[in-house]
Amino acid sequence: MSDLLACGVDIGSTASKCVILRQASEVVASCVVPVGAGTSGPMRAIAGALRCCGKQLADMACICSTGYGRNSLEQADFETTELACHAKGAYALFPQVRTLLDMGGQDAKAMRIGPDGRLANFVMNDKCAAGTGRFLDVMARVLDVDISDLAGLGARSTKKMDISSTCTVFAESEVISHLANNAAITDVVAGIHRSVASRAIGLLRRVGIEEQLVMTGGVARNEGVVESIGAGLGIGVVTSPFAQFVGAFGAALMALERAHEREQTRKIRSAMRED
Ligand code: ADP
Repeated sequence: MSDLLACGVDIGSTASKCVILRQASEVVASCVVPVGAGTSGPMRAIAGALRCCGKQLADMACICSTGYGRNSLEQADFETTELACHAKGAYALFPQVRTLLDMGGQDAKAMRIGPDGRLANFVMNDKCAAGTGRFLDVMARVLDVDISDLAGLGARSTKKMDISSTCTVFAESEVISHLANNAAITDVVAGIHRSVASRAIGLLRRVGIEEQLVMTGGVARNEGVVESIGAGLGIGVVTSPFAQFVGAFGAALMALERAHEREQTRKIRSAMRED
């Protein structure tokens, strides 16, 4: 069997992710660039992943794009929805998944996954930034910390402090006022995590929760949010350091399947010609 390579590109609203797979679903390279649709992010993510494995775009047997900006990648052989890609990627990583939460930069989606890995149902958050990565990005900026430092800060909280405003703009003022009143940043961050978690829990309850609950998307990189969701529901939330790549991984799996189908068709045609 030839050594097929396939590529999945997830062009999100906030970040661009690329995953390159070899046959048998082995991840050979991945790259994330923290800018998404309408920027140079997608091409930079592809270039980063190609550099990582020493390959060229022409070496890819098939390319699938997904995400908010999936229509914009002219190099893609085909495109598909991020719902389908997250379901596919999460099921490949965690076959016991029955409920899936994807929290990205500007939206959140709760999905029910059938025992066969098919997407059975889903709900999305409204157009509000609260309960998405955007809320956390805004809060990190107000607190003057890096987004990757939020989890560590929240983990050191010693006093419960709630952020009561559900609107991002009002929550921003509330955080500023807490800080002006000398609240500990660690307590404020833990409150921010609980606020995002409560939005996610509402979304999950709308779709119905069945274990195993898996979380994907960039926000799943924040352990504080993941733990707050688990604590609020009283069940474990399964995730992986690869969480932000799950959509691109699902797209790459679909591209790999398409590449295998093409290879099969090519072999059948050439066998028929020889007969
Ligand atoms: P999209 O697909 O909508 O562009 P992603 O699933 O890539 O979004 O998630 C982007 C979000 O992930 C950001 O808004 C940010 O809040 C969060 N994020 C990105 N990197 C990190 C990190 N190192 N630690 C915690 N959160 C992160």
